[in-house]
Amino acid sequence: MGKPTGFLEFTRELPKKRDPQQRIHDYKEIEMPFSEQDSQRQAARCMDCGTPFCHSGCPLGNIIPEFNDAVYEQNWAYAYDILSTTNNFPEFTGRICPAPCEASCVLGINKPPVAIEFIEKSIAEVAFERGYITPKQPKFRTGKRVAVVGSGPAGLAAAAQLNKAGHTVTVFERADQIGGLLRYGIPDFKLEKWTIDRRLAIMEAEGIVFKTGVNVGVDIKAKDLLEQFDLVMLTGGSTVPRDLPIPGRDLKGVYPAMEFLSQQNKRVANRPVQVNHQGLPYVDGELWATDKHVVVIGGGDTGSDCVGTSNRHGAASVTQIELMPMPPKERAENTPWPNWPMMLRTSTSHEEGCERHWSINTKAFVGDENGNLKALRLVDLEWKNENGRMQMVEKPGTEREIPCELALLAAGFLHPQHNGLLDDLGLEYDERGNVKANKYQTTTNPKVFAAGDMRRGQSLVVWAISEGREAARAADCYLMGETLLEAKAVSMLEAV
Ligand SMILES: Cc1cc2nc3c(=O)[nH]c(=O)nc-3n(C[C@H](O)[C@H](O)[C@H](O)COP(=O)(O)OP(=O)(O)OC[C@H]3O[C@@H](n4cnc5c(N)ncnc54)[C@H](O)[C@@H]3O)c2cc1C
Ligand code: SF4
Repeated sequence: MGKPTGFLEFTRELPKKRDPQQRIHDYKEIEMPFSEQDSQRQAARCMDCGTPFCHSGCPLGNIIPEFNDAVYEQNWAYAYDILSTTNNFPEFTGRICPAPCEASCVLGINKPPVAIEFIEKSIAEVAFERGYITPKQPKFRTGKRVAVVGSGPAGLAAAAQLNKAGHTVTVFERADQIGGLLRYGIPDFKLEKWTIDRRLAIMEAEGIVFKTGVNVGVDIKAKDLLEQFDLVMLTGGSTVPRDLPIPGRDLKGVYPAMEFLSQQNKRVANRPVQVNHQGLPYVDGELWATDKHVVVIGGGDTGSDCVGTSNRHGAASVTQIELMPMPPKERAENTPWPNWPMMLRTSTSHEEGCERHWSINTKAFVGDENGNLKALRLVDLEWKNENGRMQMVEKPGTEREIPCELALLAAGFLHPQHNGLLDDLGLEYDERGNVKANKYQTTTNPKVFAAGDMRRGQSLVVWAISEGREAARAADCYLMGETLLEAKAVSMLEAV
């Protein structure tokens, strides 16, 4: 424990954010840099609890009190060593993780929790700045060839771990750049893309081969992939968006959120804007929110990113609507500490300007005579608990229209795309349509593994990294024919 009285002396502080009026004119990150001394003071608040609940709060099992202690001692190299034993990409999670660890921090029972996420970001940034993060080639190569399909956080974590274990890894990505949703989903104002390029340079120097613009299943057939590689790791994400099949759905102006967001990330990257990357029949041009009344349908991360992007485009107004009731402002009673709290969250995008409404259903998209969207027909809802199940009931007399020229559907994703690669591999799906696997190994083909959103369903970056790491461990055992325990011992010896 760095400073026994730290939690009494210092309060929680986070890096300052840029002024909303200034930042909505660019796509740069919102938080200003955190000085090493600021991080040290925040690390001093860690109580090094006998049972650190933050360990289990973090899906990666990050060893949080230990790296806090190292930061307090200003031993940044050691702090990074500790952090990198469990997390391949702390520079991503330190920026965009919702930090379930902080929700289970013991200090959080009666004081604001330790600022774990920002300490993590500081460790990663100082480590890069001081050159502690250098390419590390594996000591030997096993001769086994692994194909990783999809280059989001799950694929990248799996590739890094399998390469570390000595396998020869090729990552295939159908987009023109590596990164999955880190690259073409999450906006630059949350995660600037040089952070991905910086990490990729290390991974390439470690021997991982990246191939972009390769749609596996189309450009390489499933059977050829199985012939050319000893193991296939599927990390293609959850890509089929939940639709809203109501009257007026085909009007010009109603689009899936991901089409809108990925176009903007391309513009920021100075890449040609790929219109309609999913081949949808009703997307026929570049999507702009400028001077439009925008309504974002769906209250999650994707919806919030649409709010931030619409404000940057200069929308006339931005409204976000959600079917579910407004969550409580404080931790709900049914999610007590140390659980992830069910409560109202306000993102940096909401701070920039947005009307938010809950318990609202969209009845229809209303168009003009040219087939352009001009309004949304909405109705208020009442949620009733009937035999333990929440049922929505429309409130009589509340049906109305609000002006809207751009409606963005941000109601989540259903499952991965089945037709093509997954069906060609003859895979089974679980009841939600995700790839069915037993400890990451698919139930139909022992040399095909799956991880991340494709297996787990739509989730978080931290979970994708965790899945990639765990799937890599299981794949390594399969390739080397060892038991999980023996493999663990070998990899631990390798790490020494
Ligand atoms: C807009 C948005 C914002 C989000 N914000 C956050 C956030 O702030 N914090 C957070 O923790 N999580 C966030 N998430 C969730 C997070 O991004 C995902 O959970 C995570 O990226 C999943 O990682 P993955 O590696 O499983 O898949 P993905 O990141 O989806 O990557 C899959 C990749 O596989 C590629 N691929 C698919 N099929 C093929 C094929 N046949 N051949 C070649 N390539 C293929 C795809 O092109 C894609 O690049 C957000 C999600 C969205 C959509
Ligand atoms: S990865 Fe997320 S949950 Fe884990 S320690 Fe970092 S911020 Fe917390």
